[in-house]
Amino acid sequence: MARSAARPLVELSRSQWRTLIRELGERGGGKRESGAFLLAPRSESPRVAHIEYFDDLDPACLRGDIRFDGRHFSKLWDVCEARRLRVIADIHTHPRRSVTQSTIDRANPMIASVGHVALIVPDYASSRVRPRDVGVHQYHGNGQWSAWLGREAAERLSLRWWR
Ligand SMILES: [Zn+2]
Repeated sequence: MARSAARPLVELSRSQWRTLIRELGERGGGKRESGAFLLAPRSESPRVAHIEYFDDLDPACLRGDIRFDGRHFSKLWDVCEARRLRVIADIHTHPRRSVTQSTIDRANPMIASVGHVALIVPDYASSRVRPRDVGVHQYHGNGQWSAWLGREAAERLSLRWWR
């Protein structure tokens, strides 16, 4: 059966991606998980327009794993309001090669809205990461997720040449 490529859920420019991976790696220092929210226009566009790092919102949240204090969401909503954007995805790093969700990840979506995407990056983002190395997870509500790895992940996480 012929299969057509899936529509991207998240699109970044290659330079945005390089910066994002470098920042996640540096913030985790090769020994802690780190993460960020990815913001896009309020239209249906999946094109990331702004990145807000977890530890810029909650400086105490990187504790090995990520303990983002819900009180700090108000800052994120302020950024969304000021820039007229919405959160389409979050991204966080894992220690080793595995980019599947932990039980905690599955039970605690950073944004519990239907369609929200959670990206997981291997090896604390300490080296180059290609889209096919990433775990792409989409929330459907009621604790239900879809997960894509490898080529299927790369179809949904699209890197473009525009800046
Ligand atoms: Zn995780």
